Amino acid sequence: MALIVQKYGGTSVGTPERIKAVAEKVMQYHGAGHQIVVVVSAMSGETDRLLALAGSVSKRPNPRELDVLLATGEQATIALLSMALAERNCSARSYTGAQVHIRTDSAHNKARIQDIDAQRVGADLAAGRVVVVAGFQGVDESGNITTLGRGGSDTTAVALAAALKADECQIFTDVDGVYTTDPRVVPEARRLDRITFEEMLEMASLGSKVLQIRAVEFAGKYNVPLRVLSSFEEGEGTLITYEEEGMEQALISGIAFNRDEAKLTVLGVPDQPGVAHLILGPIADANIEVDMIVQNIATDGKTTDFTFTVHRNDYDRALEILHRIAGELGAREVAGDAKIVKISLVGVGMRSHAGIASTMFEALAKEGINIRMISTSEIKISVVVDEKYLELGVRALHEAFQLDQATAV
Ligand code: ADP
Ligand code: ASP
Ligand code: MG
Repeated sequence: MALIVQKYGGTSVGTPERIKAVAEKVMQYHGAGHQIVVVVSAMSGETDRLLALAGSVSKRPNPRELDVLLATGEQATIALLSMALAERNCSARSYTGAQVHIRTDSAHNKARIQDIDAQRVGADLAAGRVVVVAGFQGVDESGNITTLGRGGSDTTAVALAAALKADECQIFTDVDGVYTTDPRVVPEARRLDRITFEEMLEMASLGSKVLQIRAVEFAGKYNVPLRVLSSFEEGEGTLITYEEEGMEQALISGIAFNRDEAKLTVLGVPDQPGVAHLILGPIADANIEVDMIVQNIATDGKTTDFTFTVHRNDYDRALEILHRIAGELGAREVAGDAKIVKISLVGVGMRSHAGIASTMFEALAKEGINIRMISTSEIKISVVVDEKYLELGVRALHEAFQLDQATAV
């Protein structure tokens, strides 16, 4: 008998029929003798609908009140799933995040889980009940409802699994595992049987939304066995695990991409100490996160260009700040482009192999794709390209590195 935390995403609980199908699936595991905690998302589209609703009454909705609103999405699903289970004579109880003491900090809309009191859940499990918990939400020290950022139900599930010392955390979704890249963009993408925490973390942070970054961080930190599976088909899915001796190691495990980026450039800034700080200080003060940064060498010995990327939602604010400070910087011009995307190759095997970057650049060049920025780390290479080249670029790279084949280069 195992203790399993299962999470069902928005599409998996998107209609009453699908909720009933989830109830059946949960009962199969419960009937086999396992203790089951289920975490559910809001029905698909519901969180977006609530966000739009908030936007229709306020230009910048108050973050605390937005969380009160957004948390209702998951609250509806826990009740519906518990009803569907009760209908099938399966004893179940639903709980909101606050009710199971999912304690977070007070950063509304992007709160971090600090602590979970597993007692409540433990008592229900001991009594043979299925426990159904609302994903994506928690409560801060003062009792305010918080939410964990988009995709946050994954993190609720992993955090609960860690607190309960569950045998496995299963993320049920609308694909049957983690693929070499988003199968919606590259139909030839291949499902991976295993991927390391380290690679999954890079994939998630570089834009693969199949798992929320924090969920992967949490699972790695607390050593929670994590599996991604399909809600609709049987199968083993993908296990996220530590790197093991003798584990078959592909050079590249996947391609991630991020459509949410925007690029800003300050042209003709004096090439002298302190410039980077003068530019990025006000950006940081405005709480805008910066991703890639490139500063060119001064060709004329006097001035240089400074480019960085931010989340597309922050583009207008960042541009405004740069225009404001351009004068005091002595810069010639400020330019920006919100129609860019980032494509990244990820693989632990990269550490020990040269030539990956040149193969990548060659594949993009063959398609006539201009690379606007490049950044590398030990296990990834990212490029920024024009938005219109996203699909073409990802497909070209998938092919160049033969990721559709199990024994990739
Ligand atoms: P859920 O609502 O179940 O949380 P998400 O939409 O958050 O589901 O995540 C699943 C989606 O992630 C898939 O439908 C797929 O389009 C996308 N995705 C992006 N990258 C990958 C990848 N490398 N492997 C599998 N799915 C991916
Ligand atoms: N419902 C939330 C969202 O759409 C959380 C989640 O589904 O994980 O982002
Ligand atoms: Mg998700």
